[in-house]
Amino acid sequence: MTAARLQELSISLHDCQRCKLAKLGRSQVVFGVGNPHASIMFVGEAPGFKEDQKGEPFVGAAGKLLNDLLQSAHLSRDQIYIANVIKCRPPNNRNPERDEVDTCKPFLLEQIRIIRPKLVCTLGNWATHTLLERKVGITKVKAQAFDLKEFVLFPLLHPAAALHQGGLLPTLKEDFRKLKEYLDRNTIPAAVMRPDSPLSPTH
Ligand code: URA
Repeated sequence: MTAARLQELSISLHDCQRCKLAKLGRSQVVFGVGNPHASIMFVGEAPGFKEDQKGEPFVGAAGKLLNDLLQSAHLSRDQIYIANVIKCRPPNNRNPERDEVDTCKPFLLEQIRIIRPKLVCTLGNWATHTLLERKVGITKVKAQAFDLKEFVLFPLLHPAAALHQGGLLPTLKEDFRKLKEYLDRNTIPAAVMRPDSPLSPTH
């Protein structure tokens, strides 16, 4: 049911022409990947070159680092679900623009409604601002849990930031340690088969 609804949404976006990114060199829409029954979802910014080529989020250098960080928190990619705010690669990996976020955000929200994760980890400023609906610096809010009614938001630095500024890597590792601590404290398994009744977030 959940998998079918996700697939239906993915098919509906297959040749999306809703915003200008469709005509700005994207090869394909990068919908999202992972376990449709995930309790934990990760949300990045937008596909980069490798993601655009492969059609999967976080398969380039930032994705490799993300895999290591996930492993450190005892999570694997097949347990979780990963998506981006923007489903198409912006030219030259520029930042998403307001109209692009506004156009694509409803589809991220629909993915969240279908998957019903207990915890959503946003990676970096863009994803955090989009879901928190507040423009607050990632360094102020990272590695803390925000109860957003439908799920708990847990912002993290974007792995690409640590690739660009090596000095951030220890902080990112420490924040994934805090994530693991949070998951243990709240006994959130990575993925569960759930009945169709809504689940309230844990604290
Ligand atoms: N950065 C992102 O935010 N998303 C990806 O899928 C890859 C890199």
